[in-house]
Amino acid sequence: MMRRLTALLLAGSLPFAATAQDAASDATRTAQAEIAKRLPLSDARDEANVMRGKLAEIPGGVIQTADGKTVWDRRPYEFLNRAEAPDTVNPSLWRQARLDAVHGLFEVAPGKIWQVRGYDISVMTIIRGKTGWIVVDPLLSEEAAAASWKLFADTVEAKSGKRPIKAVIFSHSHSDHFGGVGGIVTPEQAKAEKIRVIAPHGFSEEATSENVLAGGAMGRRALYMFGAILPPGERGQVDTGLGPKLSSGTIGYMEPTETLSDKGGELTIDGLVFEFLDAGGTEAPSEFVFYIPAYKALHTTEVVTHTLHNVLTLRGAQVRDALRWSKVIDAMLLKWGGKAEVAMASHHWPTWGAGEVTSLLANQRDAYRYVHDRTLFLANRGATLHELADQTAEAPVQAGDFSTRGYYGTLNHDMKATYQRYFGWWDGNPANFNPLPPEQSAPKYVALAGGADKLLAAGRAALEAGDYRWAAELLNKLVFAQPDNKEARAALASAYDQLGYQAESGAWRNYYLAGAASLRGNAVEAATSNGQSRSFVSAIPTAVFFDALATRFDAAKGSAIRGSFQFVLPDSRESVAVVVGGGVEFPRYGITDPAPTATVTIDRRILDEAMMGRAQFPALIQSGAIRIDGDRMAFLSWFAMHPPADPRFNVVVP
Ligand SMILES: [Zn+2]
Repeated sequence: MMRRLTALLLAGSLPFAATAQDAASDATRTAQAEIAKRLPLSDARDEANVMRGKLAEIPGGVIQTADGKTVWDRRPYEFLNRAEAPDTVNPSLWRQARLDAVHGLFEVAPGKIWQVRGYDISVMTIIRGKTGWIVVDPLLSEEAAAASWKLFADTVEAKSGKRPIKAVIFSHSHSDHFGGVGGIVTPEQAKAEKIRVIAPHGFSEEATSENVLAGGAMGRRALYMFGAILPPGERGQVDTGLGPKLSSGTIGYMEPTETLSDKGGELTIDGLVFEFLDAGGTEAPSEFVFYIPAYKALHTTEVVTHTLHNVLTLRGAQVRDALRWSKVIDAMLLKWGGKAEVAMASHHWPTWGAGEVTSLLANQRDAYRYVHDRTLFLANRGATLHELADQTAEAPVQAGDFSTRGYYGTLNHDMKATYQRYFGWWDGNPANFNPLPPEQSAPKYVALAGGADKLLAAGRAALEAGDYRWAAELLNKLVFAQPDNKEARAALASAYDQLGYQAESGAWRNYYLAGAASLRGNAVEAATSNGQSRSFVSAIPTAVFFDALATRFDAAKGSAIRGSFQFVLPDSRESVAVVVGGGVEFPRYGITDPAPTATVTIDRRILDEAMMGRAQFPALIQSGAIRIDGDRMAFLSWFAMHPPADPRFNVVVP
């Protein structure tokens, strides 16, 4: 029984009866009314822009794989058809969710540029070249990209004639902009037809390595942030702020044939001149924006979208640079402001009109600059991580320009991220330098409060008063002290409900509501993420793969192991010597140890199979796909010291 309970605990779905979510409280209704009154919700420019040039749509917004698996379905989101926000959704987020929900094929510049939107979290852009098509950012999954391309072909090509794809542009290194490439061109076709694949410098390294080492924890946090473990609904997932949600198909990869340098520069692609500006180190480590003079069209990639973006995403990533971000936007403004008649991005809808584009860029620049400068203004006067945001009013541009509001990133966590960029995780107060871990301090807080009942009563009183942040802080202590305390879990879930309902950021809402669902045992744990295709897995550099393996080494159990394990990968002509000892293993890429404990011969292709879970090591050894020479037992006992991490670890309970 204990074993089973532990397994259930690990699964994050505790044996608590699924219970309903709360209705919006009076305090929440008041907060929603207050923001609705404050914002210019009657400004209909975005509503007009999101519908402009619509040509066609996929019926019901349903995309399925050949074998019937659904990767996208907008039918459960019909509740968004209502113009007025329910009291369980922040009215500003509701507005954004309704805009993001619009799906179809759209003409951006008649006869020149089209976008397919609303079939993934991201947007695919198709540009007419002299002889064929230039495709920008083919979505996250192959299935979503294929369906989007079909919609384009059935509509535009059916009318004006079939043309070849001449080039694919990956605007940056995040997978929601390249993962679907296999859905529009196969690697064989790309090779045979000499399709140019153009990306910013550093693309390959960042695209294939960014999520490999820390992928386990990032993946778990992403499920909370994107709301994948929530059902859609007025009390559930409505939007991510950046787009509706992630498609759930297959993520692939294609190696660029050419990259732009950090100097940017000009390229003629299928007879069309493109001007590039490097934006690496803003929203992504590898990124560019570009302008097409002949079409007066600016692609702002993910540097300028219709949200204040993340300086640090809640799923976890290395912190970004708000100062550089604002400077790159200003460089765009100086280069192309007044010239560009349309600005389009890798998410959301375009903005038309030279004046509108200029003010979009200026306001976005000012929003990131505000994040940066307010953080340092306050930090240099003594404010610390958890004080900054409460001491800072909204940026002036946020009152009038919806594109700068915190639908995805927020002023609050972007300031914390900027603090982290300069000062790290510590606030400078020695009490916080080495505090007790939450599971040790929580029972002491409970005792100090006079027992669980008193702490619960204080938490409930805070709930009653609408003081949800305080309620969450108190009740979280009780849940960490007594994870099986049903009343504490229910009360904490209630606090998360209201915090989620009030949040303007889709990411905050999802995270709070996923926390509540998890506390109630309502989390949809099966709704996990995407499959990775061979093209993606095989692009992960071998050196990164062995670094990732080292992060799985169980140092507590394996501290006595010493040795050297030589890996030989015949098909990729690579070798890695892994030196083991002192509780660490150190992979030396490209090195051959003259006297290894054991030599393991395995094709990189077989390693990929194992990584994708399509092959198991014991079977591979038995079949001879892996050959072990030398001390076989030493290798096997070392290799057994890499237990897989349970990807469903707990987040809101210990
Ligand atoms: Zn993106």
